[in-house]
Order: sequence, then C-alpha cells, then structure tokens
Amino acid sequence: MAETKPSNFIEEIIEDDLTSGRVGHVLTRFPPEPNGYLHIGHAKSIALNFGTAIKYGGQCNLRYDDTNPVKEDDEYIKSIYRDVTWLGFTPAAVLYASDYFDYMFTCALLLIGKGLAYVCDLDADQIRQYRGTLTEPGRESPYRGRSVEENRKLFFEMKDGRYKDGEKVLRAKIDMASPNLNMRDPVLYRILHAAHHRTGDDWCIYPMYDFAHPLEDAYEKITHSICTLEFEDHRPLYDWVVDNCACDPAPHQYEFARLNLTQTIMSKRYLKKLVDEGIVSGWDDPRMPTISGLRRRGYTPEAIRDFCERIGVAKSNSEVDIALLEHCVREHLNDTAPRRMAVLEPLKVVIENYEKSGETLQSENMPKDEAAGTRDVSFSRAIYIERADFMENPPGKFFRLAPGKEVRLKNAYIIKCENVIKDGSGNVTELRCSYDPDSKSGGPTAGRKVKGTLHWVDAETAVPCEVRSYDYLLTEDTNGDFMDRLNIDSIETFPDALIEKAGAAASHGERFQFVRQGYFCVDKDSAERLVFNRIVGLKDSFSKTLDI
Ligand code: ATP
Ligand code: MG
Repeated sequence: MAETKPSNFIEEIIEDDLTSGRVGHVLTRFPPEPNGYLHIGHAKSIALNFGTAIKYGGQCNLRYDDTNPVKEDDEYIKSIYRDVTWLGFTPAAVLYASDYFDYMFTCALLLIGKGLAYVCDLDADQIRQYRGTLTEPGRESPYRGRSVEENRKLFFEMKDGRYKDGEKVLRAKIDMASPNLNMRDPVLYRILHAAHHRTGDDWCIYPMYDFAHPLEDAYEKITHSICTLEFEDHRPLYDWVVDNCACDPAPHQYEFARLNLTQTIMSKRYLKKLVDEGIVSGWDDPRMPTISGLRRRGYTPEAIRDFCERIGVAKSNSEVDIALLEHCVREHLNDTAPRRMAVLEPLKVVIENYEKSGETLQSENMPKDEAAGTRDVSFSRAIYIERADFMENPPGKFFRLAPGKEVRLKNAYIIKCENVIKDGSGNVTELRCSYDPDSKSGGPTAGRKVKGTLHWVDAETAVPCEVRSYDYLLTEDTNGDFMDRLNIDSIETFPDALIEKAGAAASHGERFQFVRQGYFCVDKDSAERLVFNRIVGLKDSFSKTLDI
C-alpha cells in the first residue's frame, strides 16, 4: 500500500478495497473513444487512472473504446497513443473493445437465455415515447413478451444482416417503471451496416456503451473503473450487466467531476468542428486545448501533470481558471528553459561613439542555475531593440528609451538616446545613441543606476525568425453558441522578429525564455527560418485571481 495518505475519495476507496481484500491489486483503464484527438480534460482522466494505479503499485490499460464504427479512425488511434505516452505514462496493455465483440455477443445470448433481454421492433422515436419521463412511468413494449426461442432466433438474424439499420434492437428487460430512466429496458445492441476500422464487415450489430463498457472492464479484470459524473445515473445499469452476465470478479464504477476550463471548449465534437471548418489549422493548432495542440504550443508533460495534480479530484463539477494551467507551465519553464534575447518588432539603434569593431559579452543561460553556464552574446555598433521600448513623447514612469534618456542594455552597456531619425511620413526608423564604455559588468560605472533594462540583439549576428503569439479561441462571453463566441483575432504574427545568434540553432520543440517577453517554443513550421510559438507570457495572472 502507498506510504502517503489518500489524497482524494478514489484513493480512499482503493485503500479500503485493498484493506478489506475486495481486490488484491489495482488495475485501472483509460478508455477513449478513437473519434478525435485527446484534450486537456482527457489528461485529467489519464493522470487519474495511471497516477492512481502507479501510486498503489498497480497498472493501467489503454483501451480504445471502439464500439461505434461510424466516427472512429486509425489516425485518432495513433494520436491517442502518442499523447498518452508523451504525457509520461506507459500502458500495461494497449487493447481494443472491438476485440471483445464475440464475448459481448455471448453475454447478450446469456441474457436472452435468462429471459433478461428481448428483440424489440419499435423504432427510436417510439422507444423514446414508451420510455416515459421523470414523472411518468414508461410503457412496456408490445414485443417484451417474446419467448426466449424467438428472441434468440431474431437476434441471430439481426447479426446475420437480415434487417436494416434501426429495424430492430436488442433491449434489456428490466423495469419500465424504474425511477431511473436508464433502467427502463435500455437498448443493448443496434443494427448498423457500417464497416468498422478493425473488424471490417464482420458485424452489422454493435453494442451500446452501457452494455459494452462493463463487459470491457470485466473482460480485462479492471478493479476500479473510473469515469466522469454524467455516468453516475448509469451505474445501476453497469451493475445490472455485471451481475447478470456473471462477471467475476465484478468490476466497479466510480465517478469524478470532469474538467472544465474557462475560455475553453472541451468536447471532441466541437473541436472537430473547428478543424473541419478550417477555423483552426488542425487538431494540433497551438490554440487548441488538445494534447497535441498544447505540445506544439510548447507545453511540457511535467506542467500538464502538475496541473492535473493541483486541480485534484472532486465529486462535483466546477470550472478551473485557465490561468492555473498557464501558471503551471510558467513555473516549470522558469526552472528549465534557457534564456535568450529576441526582438519581435525591431527598431535599429546605432551607437555613434562605439568605435570597436565589435565584442563578445557573456550572458547566463539560467540566472538561478550557475551550472547552466553562460553563452557568448555579440555586441556591435548597431543593435536592435523592441520598437515598443522607445517613445518619443513618453508619459511619466516610462522607464524605457526616450530622447535624452538612458537605459541599460541587458548584460551590456548603458546607452543614451541622442537623436531620432524618421522617414518622410514621420515614422521613427532609427535611433542614434551614445554609450558609457565603463558601464559594462565589471567596469568602473557598472553599478550606475538607470531605471530601465532592455533586451536587444546585435544587428550583425542576429537571425531573422517569425514569432506567433496566441490568444484564447473563445471570448470571455459565456452565453450563446460557441461558434458565436469565437475570438477571431487569436493569432498575432511577428514576421520580422530577430533572435540572437545563440538561439538560431534551435531545433523543433526546443523551448526558451525570451528575456522580458515570455516562453517560446520552436514550431514544426520552421523550415528556411525559425518559427516560434509563444507558450505563455511572463506575467502571472493566476496568483492575482486565485489563492493557492
Ligand atoms: P468528449 O465529450 O470530449 O468527446 P468523451 O467523454 O466522449 O469526451 P471519451 O473518449 O469517451 O471522451 O473519454 C475517455 C475518458 O476520458 C472517459 O473516461 C471520459 O470520462 C474522460 N474524459 C473526457 N472528457 C473529460 C474531461 N473534460 N475531464 C475529465 N475526464 C474526461
Ligand atoms: Mg464519448
């Protein structure tokens, strides 16, 4: 048993089960339907299922819940495996629910044999009408009284393709007056003449989730089947299937609150719509809350796992501030991402009294970690600063560059703005400055205080790159259809950005802190020149909004 205390109600249940001997070990499963890419909500489920099993010395299966042939695809299968393993988890086994179709069929025959399932000819609308409501009991189907023999014959005929889609279904015979609507003779099997991505045309009947899921868990001998709260009302049916199909040992279902994030849509159906309608560039668009989008954006698996840990596991639904996710990646990258200087919107600065041909300065890679060493940063007569770091007529408290004002260049000299050069339309095109040669680190006036410190790059050695900065895909407005809440201005591109030479050799996926700007990651679009995604800014809006 784990040495630490249980940190949520699921762990409490597991500890009780291990103590009482209900189970001798822990086997969980993560059961995605391969009908889309995984999102950050799935990460919570993955972290919970794998994390809990690991904590108790157990294991977790990755099971593709591929019982609905219409929406499933091999592309999704591959992406799911990649995402789970990228998050840092190793499945005990990679399994497919479709491998259990024979077993499920046998279980259905068992129920028919026990008089607990019947073939029903009502169509979907009629079944709905007969079901009744929360305040009214349902009515029994006229086909409920079919004999075991007739049901068996019809069910085989369904399997053999004798009927069209929707013509017949197999239903459980439970209780049409049950206060729980899920128990009013739920459908177990439907007819669907559709090719399945693994079983091809072997089957034209497919099991419904509520029938298939407990059987999948039973087949794999899952000890703790953890799912989201909306299945709480389905638990009696889960137990009914497990009992009546004589599953031994019996798996048990437990429900936890799904993750909802502010300004984020989290349903595969909606995310697919964004992809299909070309609103984003793909499932891995860096604005998407998918694992692949977060990965491309530059999120680390450590940060996502940390986030999942911090939000905890609760029994009631709530919404988590997306600022917490950002806080987690910021914290991780603050400790791990080397520093570089990049200028997103360059403004040229010529240092007129700098007469050397150039020099090499040193900058630390990680200010708090000496072991990370230093790097060479070249300096010369012409440099670039951020256009926004200069104002001709600044308001008070503008501690950046302005005519007649001094600033320090990060890890270099103090400069003073002497002259402003403009083009014919009055736009500032260049600054002429002077520098204090003694103000370099170690120099006689190194300690001289000036209010602002700016990042910069050397014009001679800086390398052009593109920087992309992202906003949320959804506006803060929480009313209305999500398509009306789309933030159409969610990408800002800086096509003329420049990065210091030491950053120019970066390869796809590498992450940096750009001094004074935030955290950035090399995008897969980098070909002739580097493209950086802004992962997150430096400023933490989280500690302000929430108390942690
Ligand atoms: P979606 O509604 O986004 O399509 P889903 O629940 O249909 O999600 P599945 O592939 O069936 O997706 O989910 C696999 C597992 O992930 C399930 O156990 C499900 O409960 C869990 N899961 C899905 N979304 C969330 C979420 N937002 N928070 C926590 N767990 C989730
Ligand atoms: Mg689903």
